[in-house]
Amino acid sequence: TQAPVITIDGPGGSGKGTICRLVAQKLGWHLLDSGAIYRVLALAAIHHNIAPEDEEALQPLAAHLDVQFTCDELCNVKITLEGENVTHTIRTEQVGSVASKIASLPRVREALLRRQRAFRETPGLVADGRDMGTVVFPGAEVKIFLTADAQERANRRYLELKQKGHDVNIGDLLSEIQTRDERDMNRAVAPLVPAADAYLLDSTNKSIDQVLQEVLSFVKKQL
Ligand code: C5P
Repeated sequence: TQAPVITIDGPGGSGKGTICRLVAQKLGWHLLDSGAIYRVLALAAIHHNIAPEDEEALQPLAAHLDVQFTCDELCNVKITLEGENVTHTIRTEQVGSVASKIASLPRVREALLRRQRAFRETPGLVADGRDMGTVVFPGAEVKIFLTADAQERANRRYLELKQKGHDVNIGDLLSEIQTRDERDMNRAVAPLVPAADAYLLDSTNKSIDQVLQEVLSFVKKQL
């Protein structure tokens, strides 16, 4: 039998990344940050001067992407692309925007499927993304869809990027997040939608700890 999976899907800034890391840490499970794979691919495309619409060129780039994830005991992930540390450079909204364009291409998504499923190992996996519960792990034991209103998500992203030393404008950030959500929700393949059997959780006005407790008690009931 396969290792169990908890999927947490939702839009950018909903708190998924933080919550997934804390849940994985708490359970001692593996962590898949699928958005990071799309971001690394976006960065590789930028490096190779490949346009985000060029499916012909992006498909092989995705299939052969030399990306490594290394997790410490607190589930802090270090990400390398062709040996170069890109942990921080992939986090800009610019890279996120290219990632979301690339992510609408069916052959790119297909090329990344196997790589994502390979993260499913004992004792279990916490998977963070847009289509974890709908496409990549449709049989997951626990599915959660985490949202928050756009303004709050922009605020969180702002604080996160600011803290990492990026120079950002909150208004720009809000409109970029809205454009990206729009694109993610309306694409033909693997759009951002809750799985039919997902537990919907709105994190607006909730602290990280409140959301974490809610997630953990739901997980406990399901497993
Ligand atoms: O979650 P994150 O903001 O890092 O994701 C970056 C982009 O990658 C998203 O806007 C989305 O277009 C794409 N993505 C996706 N499917 C996933 C994870 C991310 O299409 N499972």
